[in-house]
Amino acid sequence: MTALPVLLLQDALCLEHHAGVQHPESPERLRLALQQLLTDLPDGVQLAAPRDATDTELARAHGADYLAQLAATAGKPRTVLDADTATSAHSWAAARRACGALLTGLDACLDGEARGAFALVRPPGHHAERDAAMGFCLVNHVAVAAEHARARGCQRVLIVDPDVHHGNGTQHSFEARDDVLFISSHRWPFYPGTGAPGEVGVGRGAGSTLNLPLQAGMGDAELLALWQQLAAPVVAEFAPDCVLVSAGFDAWQHDPLGGLRVTERAVSRRSSRSSVPGPTRTAPASSLPCSKAVTTQRV
Ligand SMILES: [Zn+2]
Repeated sequence: MTALPVLLLQDALCLEHHAGVQHPESPERLRLALQQLLTDLPDGVQLAAPRDATDTELARAHGADYLAQLAATAGKPRTVLDADTATSAHSWAAARRACGALLTGLDACLDGEARGAFALVRPPGHHAERDAAMGFCLVNHVAVAAEHARARGCQRVLIVDPDVHHGNGTQHSFEARDDVLFISSHRWPFYPGTGAPGEVGVGRGAGSTLNLPLQAGMGDAELLALWQQLAAPVVAEFAPDCVLVSAGFDAWQHDPLGGLRVTERAVSRRSSRSSVPGPTRTAPASSLPCSKAVTTQRV
């Protein structure tokens, strides 16, 4: 029996989003990551083409007026949405394709066609709020994907967010719900200011948000201790049937602005079942949501 592949979803359209001259979230970070991956594609990884996210799918995580505002940027050379978030002519199309990449991968996992999927896409997503762009992010891809998983019958969705910045938009999307567990490790205090350890969810969502703050200069030992001692028991009790990872990589030791000392070895160990139990029914679908501080592509 042939082992199921891990899908790598990418699309040249994601290179067509331009946030501005010398903006740290540049197409180059994606272009170079792809270049390295495609030069030496790991065994068991299969390239796949993504579809666009539909209006219905996007509307599960964003308001109609905000989506119309984003759509109105199409074809315009530059639209400024917040202090550090702007679009170019093809940004809206790129965002829809990027979001659709997660959904394509997720569908493949749920349909038993893949054991995992990684969407290497931009623009990023986890700072985007329901009704506002923020922190380089237009569409909150992982929030749309979590809603898609629920719509397809998953009962308990885990979102893991290891980006150096807190995923404020993702937390706000689900903090009042108990069907989506959001766990974030991030430098704190740091941009965007949210993600304090006392933010644990509200109402029936109390206990479904777990923030794991790291101080500047911390690295693998502190990160793994937080995940193994605090996150793993929560995940085990939640027993997710779908795991989504907001796979921003700016907690990496050589990121020029992140300020943490996390290595790829710690990320690999945290992703193993020994530290965070895996899903019972589906394999992870991942995204590349954030880039708040990434100017290199050394993944
Ligand atoms: Zn980030």
